[in-house]
Amino acid sequence: MVPFAPPTRYDLNFNFLGFPVRVHPLFWVIALLLGSGTRNLLMIPVWVVIVFISILVHELGHALAFRRYGQDSHILLHFSGGLTIPQSVPFGGGYASVGMTPNEHILVSLAGPFAGFLLAGLTLAVGAALGGDIIFTSILGVVPFPVVVLPISWLTDIFISMLWVNIFWGFINLLPVYPLDGGQVSRYFFIQRDPYSGLRTSLLISVITGGFLAVLGLVAFGSTYMALMFGLLAFQSYQMMQGVNRMY
Ligand SMILES: [Zn+2]
Repeated sequence: MVPFAPPTRYDLNFNFLGFPVRVHPLFWVIALLLGSGTRNLLMIPVWVVIVFISILVHELGHALAFRRYGQDSHILLHFSGGLTIPQSVPFGGGYASVGMTPNEHILVSLAGPFAGFLLAGLTLAVGAALGGDIIFTSILGVVPFPVVVLPISWLTDIFISMLWVNIFWGFINLLPVYPLDGGQVSRYFFIQRDPYSGLRTSLLISVITGGFLAVLGLVAFGSTYMALMFGLLAFQSYQMMQGVNRMY
């Protein structure tokens, strides 16, 4: 793993379920920027908390799956989201990670988005317990009804954000694009099928999917952010593919 996001004095460090967690200060900046489009200014800190909890739960999914296969890990929340980094253990003269089969790697990658889906399910259950009106209002859209009083609309806001982050981001993460979770799934899937050129196949899929989503983002959604993000990921995959080609 590339040692980026080095420790700073503004890091937040804590332990959760036995996993060391480090939050880089830029994580809060990015979470704030993502929430700057909220309709209500007071919702911004709430949004930051929602993003923090959701990304932490996502990474916990990966970390718990790693633990199931005997691999220790620590969690890093930084400027481009979260990372669950497997801990190396002393082995012989050096350090090594626990050997895992491709299928175990695939399950570890899927555990992140599915932990988010579980959190979304839990949110829906809370909504149902509150009478279900909140689910109804959320589905009808962000338009507040005259009958909806302020506390409900606050709750609805939180509710929509929780569902949005955990379901929508979960699906984005499952796309077969490097280094998203779906990209890892596709890598281990194709390596298993073809150890010789599987890596190259998964990178080619990443270039095509990333490129397609970049164009789709720009043309269909008018989103420069989506175009830039997927364009960059497609380009990175293309560069990695060149590296793989050179090795043969
Ligand atoms: Zn993940």
